[in-house]
Amino acid sequence: MQLLEGKVIADTIKAELAVEVEAIRARGNKIPHLAAVLVGEDPASQVYVNSKIKSCEQAGFKSTLIRCEADVPEFELINIIQRLNSDPDVDGFIVQLPLPKHIDEEKVTLAIDYHKDVDGFHPVNFGRMAQGLPAFLPATPFGIIEMLRRYNIETTGKHCVVVGRSNIVGTPISILMSRKGYPGDCTVTLTHSRTRDLPAEVRRADIVIAAIGIPNFIQADWVKEGAVVIDVGINRIPDASKKSGSRLVGDVDFDAVAPKCSYITPVPGGVGLMTVTALLMNTLKACRREIYP
Ligand code: NAD
Repeated sequence: MQLLEGKVIADTIKAELAVEVEAIRARGNKIPHLAAVLVGEDPASQVYVNSKIKSCEQAGFKSTLIRCEADVPEFELINIIQRLNSDPDVDGFIVQLPLPKHIDEEKVTLAIDYHKDVDGFHPVNFGRMAQGLPAFLPATPFGIIEMLRRYNIETTGKHCVVVGRSNIVGTPISILMSRKGYPGDCTVTLTHSRTRDLPAEVRRADIVIAAIGIPNFIQADWVKEGAVVIDVGINRIPDASKKSGSRLVGDVDFDAVAPKCSYITPVPGGVGLMTVTALLMNTLKACRREIYP
C-alpha cells in the first residue's frame, strides 16, 4: 500500500507556481490575485479560507479576504460579488460555502462572473467541463485528477466507482474520470443514497472515490484487493485523547481499508490540500486568460 500524499504534491505544485509567479513579476506583469469572501464565523469555513490565503502566500500570489457578518443581507453580498466581478486587479474569487440559510447559494453562484469563477461552480464552467471544452474545473475534482496524474496512477479502462453525487465533487469527478484522455478513460459508476447494493458496486471498483460526508463509511469488505481509494470526506469526530477533543477522519474506514489498497489518500493530508492547490492553479489560468482568452 502506498499513500497518495496530497501534502507532498501540493507543496511541489506551490513551489512550481511560485517560480512562475516570479517570472511574471520579473517581466513586469500583474501577479495572480485571488479574493475570498467569508460570511459568518463557521469554524470549518474559517479553517478552509485561512488555508487558501496561506497557500496564496506560499505561491507568491496576491490575496484578499473579505469578511461579512453572518446576518449580511443577500443584496449586500451580491454587491460585493459585483464589485469583485468588475475589479480588474482580481483574477479570480471564491465565496466560501456553506452560506447562512437566508442567502440563496444558487443566486450567489450565478452572480459570480464565470471568467473569475476559480472554484468552477458556475454552470457555464460546469457545462464546458462536461463538453470537454476549456473550463475552470471544480477545485476538488481538479485536485484529484492532478494527484492521479502526478502519481502516474493508471486509469485507462479501469472501473471507477464514485460514491456521492454532489455538484461540487461526486458528479463532476464522475464526468472527468470518464472523459477521453489521461487521467480518464475510466468506465464510471456514480452511486448515491438511493443505490441499491452499494457494497456490491464498490467491490467492482479498481478506483473508489468517496465523497459522502459520513465518517468511516466505506468498509474493508467493500473494497477489492489492490484498489486505488480516494477519500474526499472531511468529518470531525469526538476524540477524548486529543487536546481539542476531536479529530478529522474521512469517509473511508482508513485503518481497515488501507492494507487492501494499492494506493490510498490519508485524511487529513490528502485531497483537502489538493483542493486548495487546484484553486491556485485555476487562479493562475485566470490571470493568464488561459481558459477565456
Ligand atoms: P453532499 O452532502 O453535497 O453530498 C453527499 C452525497 O453523498 C450525496 O450525493 C448523497 O447521495 C450521498 N450519500 C449520502 N448518504 C449516502 C449513503 N448512505 N450511501 C450512499 N451515498 C450517500 O457532500 P459533498 O459536498 O460532496 O461532500 C462530501 C464530503 O466531502 C464531506 O465530508 C465534505 O466535507 C467533503 N469535502 C471535502 C473536500 C476536500 O477538499 N477534501 C471538498 C468538498 C467536500
